[in-house]
Amino acid sequence: MSIASILLRARDPGQGHNLAFGVVAVTLAAVIFCIDTYTDIEGAIAVLYVVSMLLAAQSMTRIGLLVIATGCAALTFLSYAMTHGQEANLQETLRLFGALAALSVTTLLLLKTETARLNLLSTHSALSESEARYRSIFDRTRVALWERDYSKLRSYLMDVRAQGVIDIKAYARVNPTLVDHCGGLIKAVAANQAARELLGPKSSGMGIPQRALIAGQEKFLDMLQAIMDGDRTFEDKVEVQTDDGEDKLVLLSVSLPEDPAAFGRVVVSMVDITQRELALKARAEAQAELTKASRAAMAGAMSASLAHELNQPLGAIVINAQTLLRWLDREPPDLPAVRRSAERMIRDSQRASELIQNARRVLSSPNNDLESVDLGSLIDETVALMEHELQQSKTAVLVDYSPHIPTVSTVKIELQQVLINLMTNAIQAMDEAGCSERSIRITMNQPDIEHICIAVRDTGPGIGDDARDRLFAPFFTTKAAGMGMGLSICRSTLEARGGRLDGTNHPEGGAVFEIQLPIKPEAEHA
Ligand code: ADP
Repeated sequence: MSIASILLRARDPGQGHNLAFGVVAVTLAAVIFCIDTYTDIEGAIAVLYVVSMLLAAQSMTRIGLLVIATGCAALTFLSYAMTHGQEANLQETLRLFGALAALSVTTLLLLKTETARLNLLSTHSALSESEARYRSIFDRTRVALWERDYSKLRSYLMDVRAQGVIDIKAYARVNPTLVDHCGGLIKAVAANQAARELLGPKSSGMGIPQRALIAGQEKFLDMLQAIMDGDRTFEDKVEVQTDDGEDKLVLLSVSLPEDPAAFGRVVVSMVDITQRELALKARAEAQAELTKASRAAMAGAMSASLAHELNQPLGAIVINAQTLLRWLDREPPDLPAVRRSAERMIRDSQRASELIQNARRVLSSPNNDLESVDLGSLIDETVALMEHELQQSKTAVLVDYSPHIPTVSTVKIELQQVLINLMTNAIQAMDEAGCSERSIRITMNQPDIEHICIAVRDTGPGIGDDARDRLFAPFFTTKAAGMGMGLSICRSTLEARGGRLDGTNHPEGGAVFEIQLPIKPEAEHA
């Protein structure tokens, strides 16, 4: 670091003058010294060193100022010693102190000013740096951004509010020009490259109000309401049209500042969610198709079970009908016995009809109404439905639950399908592994006042290491003829009702799937 850089301020566009000021200050100090020492002019000439200091302040650093001040003080003393050394009187001494005091006060004030100047400079440079950083983010980000001047719009809305208007939508109904008027109060300040790419140069310049929000007036009014209510942000999905006439769905977000003065630069962003929404729609459609397919697969499995179950009452009806004929053929006919046979036939027909109705309920299109479901009966009913499969695979079912479990508000058929799926998976896992001991244990408890847990545990090989992480992923299957949709559908069905489904291996062997259900689903899941 050179002496010049310690004494003089850093180079800047005005540097040439800075050096000149320094030279003039030093020369002036020398001239004042000569006048003070070698002329007979009476008066506090040394006070003029202050002028030298003021000139030096234009170009010197704080150290430079201190050096000049010390130099001027030294010259004052020297001049005093040379002119009044032997015959110093009170008046001359007072003049000396007066000059030194003026020099000290001026130096202190100049040092203070220099410190304030430096602080201002550093604040200014921090501000410019932050502005440059903001600009660079604004220009380079891939999110479409706009800067808009909402100050006039805000003042207008505050005036409207001051007139007692609280609901802007109601106000717009009686003032049909409101939307146009408010749109006109918004001024475009800047749009970044991503904004121009999203909407095209014309539309991005024109901005949101004209092209997007006014098209969907309701949303524009929602934004006006947000400004009136003093909200910090406004966010919504909005349909916009590009320069090429293409419709896009975007997520619009407006950051509303707290400080009314900052409404001159409101940042508005748009994220194109057209593809994402289309993908979500396609996924929902695919899921619905697969749910149908899995329902069809379940229908196949259940019809075997149904045929088997119907065999029993139908066989009994035939036998009772034959018996009834025999009692009728007697001489005389045994009418009380005929009546008993007829009654048994009616009972068996009713049982067959119930079985068919039950199957129809399970297989018919889903009924989405919530009902109060007694889970104990639902489990028993489901086990009865699966009876044929269970018998064929020689699987025992153990059901264990407390009688005090409250009823749950849910869609019965959905829950029944989940249970059928879990039991079918358990049977298949035990079949595939060729397990000698085959049993499914269904337990139910109430872990807290809001939830019920149903666990379906089998004595199969358990969930394989490769399957553990992907168990609920759509299309994940380890079965040759599997679709891999069962667990995924079960989980989304339960989650849609505010429930959960998890699968792990039991420490004593086998897999255990746990359903957690809210006793009363929240409104959004109902
Ligand atoms: P799929 O039955 O068509 O394979 P799922 O989604 O119902 O589809 O099951 C996905 C995979 O989870 C199965 O292929 C199997 O590997 C594993 N899995 C499911 N239930 C069990 C179980 N009880 N025991 C062991 N593995 C199971």
